[in-house]
Amino acid sequence: MTAAPGKNADRGDAAIDVPTIRGQLPALSRTVHDKPLIYLDAAATTPRPQPVIDAVTSYETNYPANVHRGVHELSGEATAAYEDARRRIAAFLGAQTHGLVFTRGTTESINLVANTSGGTLEPGDEVLISALEHHANIVPWQLACQRTGSALRVVDVDDHATLHLAAVEDAITDRTRIIAITQVSNAVGTLTPIREICTLARSRGITSLVDAAQAAPHMGVDFADTGCDFMAFSGHKMYAPTGIGGLLASPSMLDAMPPWQGGGDMIRTVSFESCTWNEVPWKFEAGTPNIGGAIGLGAAVDWLGGIGMHAIAAREQELLGDAVARLHSIDRIRLIGEPTKRAGAISFVVEGMHPADVGAMLDRHGIAVRAGHHCAQPILERFGISATVRIAPAFYNTHDELESFEAALRRIIDVFG
Ligand code: PLP
Repeated sequence: MTAAPGKNADRGDAAIDVPTIRGQLPALSRTVHDKPLIYLDAAATTPRPQPVIDAVTSYETNYPANVHRGVHELSGEATAAYEDARRRIAAFLGAQTHGLVFTRGTTESINLVANTSGGTLEPGDEVLISALEHHANIVPWQLACQRTGSALRVVDVDDHATLHLAAVEDAITDRTRIIAITQVSNAVGTLTPIREICTLARSRGITSLVDAAQAAPHMGVDFADTGCDFMAFSGHKMYAPTGIGGLLASPSMLDAMPPWQGGGDMIRTVSFESCTWNEVPWKFEAGTPNIGGAIGLGAAVDWLGGIGMHAIAAREQELLGDAVARLHSIDRIRLIGEPTKRAGAISFVVEGMHPADVGAMLDRHGIAVRAGHHCAQPILERFGISATVRIAPAFYNTHDELESFEAALRRIIDVFG
């Protein structure tokens, strides 16, 4: 369902040219179960814009060569495009070019840190995470703690799912070595005071990692300004293909870390007795990377930058406000988490109905939502449930779509609830 030009302007769509944006996202124009697709699942993955599809297609079609190792023209072109993508993506996220390690995404980035910096943990040391974390920011730390005899500590949220700086401060002890916290919760949408947390960590000499998987698509994320040591993100949540993402850190920090995965490209010299390592960030990029993915992510940040992250954030706040109000207006719906600051997602349950059933019935209306534990079981347990329905509107959605979502939900509850 595409908004007619100007139709939504007086409903707050003026800053972003929604019809044009939607025209650049081909997946949005398809139908599902004979209904126009209403895609409310950006927190799981985002649709890919045509410039990203074109950039990947151009690499695969015109210069599908390996990087850093060929003397021929195609390899030179691939290397230039891959490294230029690194430069643009790092700049977009406020990091130095050589402070961006390409990974498969947030999960691999956090595992990289947990397996390298995490290796410096000693028995009795503590890693502090929050109750909001995605499994990707829990399990790697659990494994690191098991390997090193250190302990995983969790700072709780309040009953609205807000994470308070004071609670983080209270949870810090003289054994806290690493604080790893999400900037935005994928499950309940909490926006955390990440800058303050990282400033606090730095003042206490504690290493900090920010899981920016859900923040990067929704606001102007700035690695340097956040004041963290590490930041992890996923390309597919910011309009790029799957299988590409990154870890941001200062080059000197990366330099001081031991390598993680071994193989081609991450070495300078190899003999059977010993190796020397490549410079950073390539020291952490063993094997043939996802070249097309990196080029696609470069195109994605160009696209996002052209629209403007401030405009995106403003429009999404307005859509979230509309969606929250609509959900509040329906009897038998309970929002899970009403944090003071929200981005990205809204979770809810319908009294007497299983979230999976609600999700499946919305799908019959052409409405894509997620139902389940959202890879964040502990925060749902914190609220005494095991699953929710989650909607994650993004700037390409329209108020008309939210109206259709509300109408479908009311119908489902009336007929099946
Ligand atoms: N962290 C958060 C907050 C997420 O929402 C996700 C994915 O949903 C991840 C980490 C893991 O991202 P990926 O599966 O792209 O590695």
